[in-house]
Amino acid sequence: MPAEIIDGRAVAQRIRDGLPARVAKVEEVLGCPPGLGVMLVGDDAASATYVRMKEKACAKADIYSRQVTLPGDASPEQVFASIEEMNQDPRIHGILVQQPVPSHIDAEAVCSATAPHKDVDGFHPHNLGELLRTGTAPFVACTPRGVIELIDSAGTEIRGARAVVLGRSNIVGKPVALLLLARHATLTVCHSRTRDLPAVCREADILVVAIGRPKMVKGDWIKPGATVIDVGTNRLEDGSLCGDVDFDEAVEVAGKISPSPGGVGPMTIAMLLANTVESAERKAGLA
Ligand code: NDP
Repeated sequence: MPAEIIDGRAVAQRIRDGLPARVAKVEEVLGCPPGLGVMLVGDDAASATYVRMKEKACAKADIYSRQVTLPGDASPEQVFASIEEMNQDPRIHGILVQQPVPSHIDAEAVCSATAPHKDVDGFHPHNLGELLRTGTAPFVACTPRGVIELIDSAGTEIRGARAVVLGRSNIVGKPVALLLLARHATLTVCHSRTRDLPAVCREADILVVAIGRPKMVKGDWIKPGATVIDVGTNRLEDGSLCGDVDFDEAVEVAGKISPSPGGVGPMTIAMLLANTVESAERKAGLA
């Protein structure tokens, strides 16, 4: 029997539907809605599209958004001054600097420059450190948080499960691994030097794949009945999008599977909005 599809669009929509009521409560207390500041440096078309999507999503949830756009040759001083200005702006409760930033800007320094209490992306060393130390943080990065929400929405028990995370990046693989560990999964993290990857993946009750390799994970890598979350987002030559998992094969073996597109992607934006609202709720003393 084919796997149950974990519909990221539907789960994300449920989360987004719950936000306007919380936004209204924040506004009652603070006199302004939650606010997201989005910085875009340069004119990368894909980044500009992501920023527009985030602004639209804010508008739908009644969240105030403010975009700061700097030219691709903006100096580091200009970039850091703009971040500091948003750090100080009382209408802004969350700050997101769209990555990648141009190569002459230090991306790590950008993450550190955002005030930790406005770091809705969850990449500030303070928030990453808290995640490592305690298994949670004031802000958990949006994509990893979305992955856990999808697993929960599918009703898959994380506690005690054998979880395999494929990929160890700072933005996806490592935080997902820490979150699963905090929820008492027995964890294996794989990467490009892992030996016999298919055999390790076949041990997984929960398999999270974030490697950026189109359709690399085949059906016979998957334990029958496993829950599979495909974070990969790859554009093929014909312009279409696909995940890191060979969906057509995997759906015949897995128990539950989140496709890509239509899985983690919509969750990432929903989690960004949720983090922004939570930040404002904290300021309002509601959380
Ligand atoms: P990175 O390139 O930063 O990391 C990829 C990871 O996969 C690395 O740890 C790398 O290993 C590992 N890897 C690469 N190739 C192989 C291989 N052949 N075998 C085993 N491991 C391998 O990618 P990201 O984490 O940033 O992104 C991963 C995917 O998730 C991408 O497709 C990206 O587009 C997508 N993504 C989707 C998001 C969403 O909102 N839906 C958000 C963020 C990312 P090593 O460390 O050894 O190099």
